[in-house]
Amino acid sequence: MTQRQLFLHHVAQTSDAPLCFEVSKANGVYLYDAQGKKHIDLIGGISVCNVGHGNQHVIEAIKKQVDDYLHVMVYGEVIQSPQVQYATALASRLPSSLQSIYFTNSGSEATEGAMKLAKRVTGRSKMISFKKAYHGSTQGALSVMGSEYWQQAFRPLLPDIFQFQYNSAEVLSHIDEHTACIILEPVQSEAGVLVPDQAWLKAIRTKCDETGCLLIFDEIQTAFGRTGTLFRFEAIDVIPDILLLGKALGGGMPLGAFVSSKSHMDTFTHHPVLGHITTFGGHPVSCAAGLAAWQYLQTSQIVTQVSEHEKLFTSLLKHPSIIQLNSCGLLMALHFDSYETNKKIIDACIAKGVFTDWFLFASNAMRIAPPLTINEEEIRMACDIILEAINEITC
Ligand code: PLP
Repeated sequence: MTQRQLFLHHVAQTSDAPLCFEVSKANGVYLYDAQGKKHIDLIGGISVCNVGHGNQHVIEAIKKQVDDYLHVMVYGEVIQSPQVQYATALASRLPSSLQSIYFTNSGSEATEGAMKLAKRVTGRSKMISFKKAYHGSTQGALSVMGSEYWQQAFRPLLPDIFQFQYNSAEVLSHIDEHTACIILEPVQSEAGVLVPDQAWLKAIRTKCDETGCLLIFDEIQTAFGRTGTLFRFEAIDVIPDILLLGKALGGGMPLGAFVSSKSHMDTFTHHPVLGHITTFGGHPVSCAAGLAAWQYLQTSQIVTQVSEHEKLFTSLLKHPSIIQLNSCGLLMALHFDSYETNKKIIDACIAKGVFTDWFLFASNAMRIAPPLTINEEEIRMACDIILEAINEITC
């Protein structure tokens, strides 16, 4: 059997049309297929590979940690330097109300931990989320996902969840003294990059302060420079009570985190003790890799260049078949008239050497979320290929 046949047969499948791109190597902004052909990666592992594939600082940190130790003990019991150093480095950038970091293995687990923390801190169960929100695929995270299509087969899910239109004032009157938390993405990525009004986010913050409801920002896709600042909440000047991190947090290794105040987090230490448990969360190799990526983000120019590179993409991607271009930094969505058109354009892009895909809740939109290390020449090359593909399919 070929590698492709073995993949389809033995690696559990979740769709009947996987991309089936066979990767042999990845470096910088390039993915190499099984034949060694180079493709510009416009997905970046879905907002994971912000510091570029094969970043030398990350690789060296991983190698050093592998030599020192791998897993030694479950979360929270022994002092592991990569965890301590990474938590301290993140805390030095975060506000005083976000100084305690619980490392998990994934974004979904960060969501789960945050939902539990909100219940534990407030003693309430009601939660609010939004249509077209994606916070992960485990059962708690699925309960706050904004789509009946993905939820219905798995009901019953968590009770007491209320969902509203994103960026709509309707939600404000529903945040009350019974609400444990409201969870939202400060930019709704999988909806095709929806950027809400800053005033709406500020009004939610005020309502949370008035009612004691905890505000959770899911920055699993938007943090680590993706939208032009290290965290999206810095640009909108609204500080959440709980911050969710994942994806680029681990510099290409699996890592998630939920971050809150020490007093909130300390509720996990009693009634019950071990209020949240993980074996591998905050794995030392993942933390070492994440710390190296974090340092690279701060010492290189890649975050400060995001806005300039966003402008270059938007100025080049002009075509009558593009009905909308949503962007927030290097998180961009090219909207076409239908899924069918989008799929054909994506297939043509992949055949021509640009790797991309669509969004969960916007199947008519093509994803542009490259490693932040992409340079001007690479952006021009990628846009030429995209326009060529659009012309081929639509003209
Ligand atoms: N939240 C957001 C905004 C995401 O985009 C994702 C993953 O795509 C998750 C949560 C879940 O993260 P993971 O797939 O690491 O569980």
